[in-house]
Amino acid sequence: MSKQEELDALAKEVEACEECKKDKIGVAVFGEGNPDAIVAFIGEAPGKQEAKVGRPFIGPSGKLLRKTIRDVLGLDDMKDVYITSPVKYLPERGTPSKKDIDHARTHFDKQLAIVDPKIVVLMGAVAAQAVLNEKIAVTSVHGTVLERDGRKYFITVHPAAGLRYPPMQETFQEDFQKLKEVLNQI
Ligand code: URA
Repeated sequence: MSKQEELDALAKEVEACEECKKDKIGVAVFGEGNPDAIVAFIGEAPGKQEAKVGRPFIGPSGKLLRKTIRDVLGLDDMKDVYITSPVKYLPERGTPSKKDIDHARTHFDKQLAIVDPKIVVLMGAVAAQAVLNEKIAVTSVHGTVLERDGRKYFITVHPAAGLRYPPMQETFQEDFQKLKEVLNQI
């Protein structure tokens, strides 16, 4: 099976999962991009636009993420990278609960193992908690690489934080400059 076939099979598993759908809205948003990407970008949970269409990061924060990938990293947001979020449906309350995150990890770990990128960009505290299963102080460790179980994770803020609070947008851009250096060394 190719990586894309493995991902398609996993997406079907997610769509059939009743636990994933509990207290959620809209369609599943599994993830998209190049299954052989060396870098994967991980958010939190789909927003309203994503939950209507089934694609990750296509709303306002997605536009900022995709533009920064293109402008700062010089990468194509469809062909060069993989983009997803641990929680696959829009939670009714907007933010995923600890239970949502713990359940999401059961599918997400498989998804990450298939793509197996050289570096995983965790955008915000929910991404860090969901993927690493530990509390990360994003405001103090953003812009740095953490290593866990032989995998490299680059920590940054969620692009939505940049939209809500403009100084965070600068942090997001500066972190991507650092990420570019990290990617150049891989
Ligand atoms: N925010 C996320 O964390 N993920 C999406 O897919 C969209 C917005």
